[in-house]
Amino acid sequence: MDNLTSPKVVKAILEKHGFYFTKSLGQNFLIDNNILKKIVRAADIGSQDRVLEIGPGIGTLTRELGILAQKVVTVEIDQRLIPILQETLAGFDNISVIHGDILKIDLMELVHNSFDGKPFKVVANLPYYITTPIIMGILERGVPFESITVLIQKEVAQRIVASPGNKDYGALSVAVQYYTIPRIVGKVPASVFMPPPKVDSMIITMERRKEPPVFVGSPELFFDVVHASFAKRRKTLVNNLMDATKILEGWSRQEIEELLWECGIDPQRRGETLNFQEFASISNNILSKKKSKL
Ligand code: SAM
Repeated sequence: MDNLTSPKVVKAILEKHGFYFTKSLGQNFLIDNNILKKIVRAADIGSQDRVLEIGPGIGTLTRELGILAQKVVTVEIDQRLIPILQETLAGFDNISVIHGDILKIDLMELVHNSFDGKPFKVVANLPYYITTPIIMGILERGVPFESITVLIQKEVAQRIVASPGNKDYGALSVAVQYYTIPRIVGKVPASVFMPPPKVDSMIITMERRKEPPVFVGSPELFFDVVHASFAKRRKTLVNNLMDATKILEGWSRQEIEELLWECGIDPQRRGETLNFQEFASISNNILSKKKSKL
């Protein structure tokens, strides 16, 4: 079998198929065996595991996953890569390649059809232009994922793991940490990709939580409050919530301030200083006030 992390081999395969990189599809292929092994090790794949990969490229990571896992399903948007994958993944009966857009595919249906609805792990070197929608799509669609291990741009990884008060802390941190326990595995230089991207990258693994870290009466309202609180980072909490007409339509400034004080939160604080408990307390309090108004 060809070594797919060898730049020489990759170039030869691409040339043979007349393939050229499409920047807008985030095509940066991995050409470093150590990083490849590091991703797979972090994902902790065993012979009983079902794996969903996003963006196989020429199948470098896919093949490694196919060696270890029970079954691998990989979704690739670029039609030109499909014949290449047929060649590089030949002989792997446990790997299926789906030609499609991961953001448009019905994930629930895929999990049903490909994994009998059973738990699965996500492993990928993600296309960076859609890192956040891919991760959020997996978290929010109610699919039975066990963990997500991905190579993503450094800045997004830092936002995912950030704590209250940190400059990187935002709606993405709260959302990912609500569903999972994220952990940065390591930094990855641009030189391990062909072609090298303009940013540094990180391997991050997100282990699904069995229970959310806080009790939330309505997850939808909780996330609306989180988004509203971070809407304008310079604004105080009360000012951001004043603008959140979707959740607090018809509420006066005084009513919002009173609600925040009831939660033990100073209305002049900024969203980026609030922890899970405090966001939950605000959304649960709004929920009970809305219910008592009915
Ligand atoms: N896994 C390969 C590797 O590690 O060398 C390629 C990774 S490359 C960073 C991202 C891959 O995602 C590319 O193959 C690209 O064509 C594919 N891709 C981009 N947008 C996609 C989408 N919306 N759905 C599925 N695949 C996509």
